Amino acid sequence: AKINGRNNYRFYTEDLGVSAKRLHNLYSYLHHAIANNELYLVYQPQFNATNTLIGAEALVRWNNPKLGQVSPDEFIPIAEESGMIHELGEWVIREALDTLVSWKSWLALNPDFKLAVNVSSKQLEHRNLTSYIKNNLSDRGLNAKHVEIEITESLLLEQKTYGMASMDELKEIGVNIAIDDFGTGYSSLSYLATLPLNKLKVDRSFVSGLHTNDTNKKLVETMINLASGLGLNVIAEGVETLDEKHALESLGCTEFQGFLFSKPISAIKFERQYLHKDI
Ligand code: C2E
Ligand code: CA
Ligand code: CA
Ligand code: CA
Repeated sequence: AKINGRNNYRFYTEDLGVSAKRLHNLYSYLHHAIANNELYLVYQPQFNATNTLIGAEALVRWNNPKLGQVSPDEFIPIAEESGMIHELGEWVIREALDTLVSWKSWLALNPDFKLAVNVSSKQLEHRNLTSYIKNNLSDRGLNAKHVEIEITESLLLEQKTYGMASMDELKEIGVNIAIDDFGTGYSSLSYLATLPLNKLKVDRSFVSGLHTNDTNKKLVETMINLASGLGLNVIAEGVETLDEKHALESLGCTEFQGFLFSKPISAIKFERQYLHKDI
């Protein structure tokens, strides 16, 4: 921003002061967020074309007594830069798997249900991720087929060899792999073909207003054709209106997630609403 005059300058420096202070607070409070029980997960349902529940995405939330509710868009990057993402990511995995355990009898009757967990590419580079997931699955007697990990496309290309090996190992033990925010990175067809993927998740930016945007329609159609050529499922995220859902369906998309169906909700609400359990 252009700074002209005393007043503007004053506001500018005050803004900087506030954000530096906030950043400092975020760093120091995030360190204790797990120990202080400030993190929790919410779950957003996913549906197929006939409105059958096919899965859910687990999304982390942080409620700090001083800062209030902090968005993951703000604290995940901080966790990644500070290295806290490993501890945080492991907490997310344990918590998501504990939720799956509480749904075990329901899962037995719904063998195709998948719970998607967001995994940072930093975690993927960490040597212990696969064994961590594997051990936590077996400790709980859970089948890996109920777990999906979402990896953001734009960070995929940064993967070094170990990230690739992690994906192969996860696929090997039966964990599903989805590419998140698909269309926002620049993955080539030949690169995608080398990855052990199950699913492409079309980014919300292409879904929003899809029915009135011919460019986005063409792009989404291309993504869907690409996925089908690679034998992958496609899910659209951020579906907010019926118009968007219908446009997606006409392009061949068969899986949906978004506020049209439900915002992310607590495990208890999710159970009551979708699993018909009354605990
Ligand atoms: P994401 O993985 O792309 O998650 C989708 C985001 O879109 C979520 O925001 C979700 O609440 C929001 N959303 C879902 N449906 C709609 C819709 O119809 N319209 C609109 N406008 N938004 C919708 P949220 O929960 O704030 O998460 C933001 C990002 O933070 C996530 O983007 C993901 O990158 C990251 N994140 C969240 N939880 C975790 C986690 O456990 N681990 C890691 N590494 N990252 C996470
Ligand atoms: Ca995601
Ligand atoms: Ca996404
Ligand atoms: Ca995103």
